[in-house]
Amino acid sequence: MATDPVNPQTDAARRTTGKVRPHQTQNEGLVFEKSSPGKRGYKLPELDVPPVNVDELLGAAARKEKAQLPELSEIEIVRHFTRLSTWNYAIDLGMYPLGSCTMKYNPRVNEWVARIEGLAEAHPYRPDHLAQGQLQVIDLLQRCLIEITGMDAITLQPAAGAHGEFTGILLVRAWHESQGNARMKILIPDSAHGTNPATAAICGYEVENLKSNAEGGIDLEALERQVDGETAALMLTNPSTIGVFESQIHKIADILHAKGALLYMDGANMNALVGKTRPGDFGVDVMHLNLHKTFSTPHGGGGPGSGPVACKAFLEPFLPIPVLVKNEDGGMHWHYDRPQSVGRVRAFYGNTGMFIRALAYILANGPDGLRQTTEDAVLNANYIRKKLEDVYELPYKTPSMHEVVFSDKRQAAKGVKTGDIAKRLIDYGFHPYTVSFPMIVHGALMIEPTESESLEELDLFIEAMRAIAREVEETPELVKSAPHSTRVSRLDEVQAARKPVLRWRG
Ligand SMILES: *Cc1c(COP(=O)(O)O)cnc(C)c1O
Repeated sequence: MATDPVNPQTDAARRTTGKVRPHQTQNEGLVFEKSSPGKRGYKLPELDVPPVNVDELLGAAARKEKAQLPELSEIEIVRHFTRLSTWNYAIDLGMYPLGSCTMKYNPRVNEWVARIEGLAEAHPYRPDHLAQGQLQVIDLLQRCLIEITGMDAITLQPAAGAHGEFTGILLVRAWHESQGNARMKILIPDSAHGTNPATAAICGYEVENLKSNAEGGIDLEALERQVDGETAALMLTNPSTIGVFESQIHKIADILHAKGALLYMDGANMNALVGKTRPGDFGVDVMHLNLHKTFSTPHGGGGPGSGPVACKAFLEPFLPIPVLVKNEDGGMHWHYDRPQSVGRVRAFYGNTGMFIRALAYILANGPDGLRQTTEDAVLNANYIRKKLEDVYELPYKTPSMHEVVFSDKRQAAKGVKTGDIAKRLIDYGFHPYTVSFPMIVHGALMIEPTESESLEELDLFIEAMRAIAREVEETPELVKSAPHSTRVSRLDEVQAARKPVLRWRG
């Protein structure tokens, strides 16, 4: 590979960080700085109704002076935001290997169906008898997800994974209370995603840490010791955040159930399981899914997401209201009279646009396609593992599922940390992998390619990672001061968190 030491000219780098970019030659200032008085991007028609007295209408809330808004023409605004959009990395530009995030391609056909007028414009207050098409879409998605997870019942209301966890643990709590004792604590392995302990705490539970064994799985003896009459549930991610399948999952479920505790599965990593095995068959009582990971609905940039919660039949009475029920005539309606329900967790029925996209993905793939997807995701992760394991340290030798976790042990000996390697990867035209997570791996590099990537793209990524490993040996300063090709280089992360500047001041 021909490299210029500062700006690597790989195919991938050229794609995102090529030196000459036409939009760079234009004024890159802030929108406020481009403002000049009197410019307008719109023209309103003459007022043809009696004017409203704003002071009368709004009282004290009425604005006393004019808002200081930038004044620009339409084309200046269009160029400004279009230019900003090109400064971001996106899954539509290249591989996005953030581990645990499953940044897969969002098929365009999903976007097309989500925009079908009758679905996209459906008003949530539309009466059920006029919304039968939409209710059928929701019902079919529910049935597909129940089939995929092997569970008995589901709610699509939660707006994200963490919100799904919250809803699932509310079900756990409501069930224990119905048995006469809410119990006090929730067990969480040390490899867990940070949202798990946060969920347990916000639901009023004490969080008890469970140590992983040498293979990165649950230590059954420790579990046996720690589960008692106060344990409400274990929250377990499977495959775990180091990409390892919990092969003892049946025994884990038995240990919990023998003492009246439940098994919650964080299903954010279902991309490794769909079509191969089902949580409902291996002892899970309640779980969430991330439609915006496994089922290809868009994510990043703050949503909207969707985190359905699936459960076994004994938890069904506690699901959020409303639930979808079949009429005698074959139609459907939303049912609200559920005395044991934990109540609503979100306005209306959830992010329905995400449901349509996820259903399109599921139907377009079909059972065999979904299984193939899982196999390709696992194959891609293992291909990267095999091609990089001689240059990056592999802390757990257990077979990888959908993601592979390396550590920076060898590079750290040269003073280069996982965060430095990630920043150098930007110069090579890739979004960084997940840095320093999971915490049980010191200096983690967590890589999840997903099934979306071609062999060519995987090879470009591998080439970049190997080139960086060589740079660490030969010119470590180059890596430690990366990125070199971006508009801003290293930001002061501490100041950015402690003293964020969130608004423009003239
Ligand atoms: C992404 C993720 C979550 C949280 O999902 P959000 O939709 O971001 O709230 C929880 N657990 C795991 C393992 C995840 O990867």
